[in-house]
Amino acid sequence: MTAPYYRDTWVEVDLDAIESNVKNMRTYLPKNTQLMAVVKANGYGHGAVEVAETALGTGADWLAVAFLDEAIELRLAGIEAPILVLGRVRPEDVPIAARYHISLTVYQTEWLEQAMNFYQKNDPVFLHVKLDTGMGRLGIRDEESLSRFVRKLKEDSRFVLEGAYTHFATADEEDESYFEEQYKRFQTALSWLKSDGVNPNIIHCGNSAASLKHPEKMFNLVRFGISMYGLSPSPSMKHKLPFQLKEAFSLYSRLTHVKKVEPDEAISYGATYRTAGYEWIGTAGIGYADGWHRRLQEQHNQVIVNGERCPVIGRICMDQLMCRLKSEVPAGTKITLIGTDKNECITIDEIAEQLGTINYEIPCMINERVPRIYLKNKEIIKIKNPLIKGMRL
Ligand SMILES: *Cc1c(COP(=O)(O)O)cnc(C)c1O
Repeated sequence: MTAPYYRDTWVEVDLDAIESNVKNMRTYLPKNTQLMAVVKANGYGHGAVEVAETALGTGADWLAVAFLDEAIELRLAGIEAPILVLGRVRPEDVPIAARYHISLTVYQTEWLEQAMNFYQKNDPVFLHVKLDTGMGRLGIRDEESLSRFVRKLKEDSRFVLEGAYTHFATADEEDESYFEEQYKRFQTALSWLKSDGVNPNIIHCGNSAASLKHPEKMFNLVRFGISMYGLSPSPSMKHKLPFQLKEAFSLYSRLTHVKKVEPDEAISYGATYRTAGYEWIGTAGIGYADGWHRRLQEQHNQVIVNGERCPVIGRICMDQLMCRLKSEVPAGTKITLIGTDKNECITIDEIAEQLGTINYEIPCMINERVPRIYLKNKEIIKIKNPLIKGMRL
């Protein structure tokens, strides 16, 4: 299943890298710990369906997404594995979730009450209760609220408590004291559940960071996100990883115009860049509207051309940018914005640092204008171009 694309800017997603990261994680985790592949936000920009299928084919047991639409996308693609929605789903949408066999996160008795009222069928609704142990985002925080929740739950047997979980705020940091604190609170909250007479089958707390650091403490499931894509959860963990992560995402374009420019000539909007002498200037068809943030230019962003780094110069435009070449190259020459070309490599971490953000944000910010090309064993197995999805050739 391949689609055409008519622009010379593309993302390559190396599914072998994802496979390798999932496989290594599987081997690293205790045998009875399940792996939930987190594919929210279109698989962190890589493609939710493609990553999900690859992860499931490599031994992932579960999938996780942020909201219901993302879960339904996976179902419509024919994926039958269990899926957990990590965020809130409207109580009135519970029938849809049940119809598609999607497990939901619950963290309020009021929500459960409303869901029970809206739901008219008899098929079970599977729930994971979220416990807030210090992230301060979603979750039940105290014993009284949890008891009230359990009492409500017991009124309606169609609502099945399948799991209980929490989320860590600092698992990627070197100082583990807050992580330990949250872990203890989670154990306490689980004991409250137990004394209220409920024992969910699936207990989980770990994101990539926590599961890489403490595989033995992760109860019976981990939520594996960022490191499945080959990225370290934080710079401080990068050099202490238990196995080698392989980055799956690269970004390329091609030069659309190459020219020799006279000394002291201006390049791009605002005429902020002036050539020092005669310079070879390349134009490429990628810009901030693709997600290549305009602020990158001020941060000395570079691209790789024929294995050599070249500075991006002048302002990044909506659909184009300019770079200063070492020497003349033909128009059509490939440029690498993220990835490896010969002996040079630009990592997602490098771009994240330039933008003063975390690596998570970088593949997410490259949007649907940029087609995704999927590689397996170095062969293209699929091209996804949402812009012209329905086009017939
Ligand atoms: C996104 C998310 C994860 C995955 O975290 P990574 O750091 O990417 O591994 C796990 N749990 C929850 C609740 C999340 O929202």
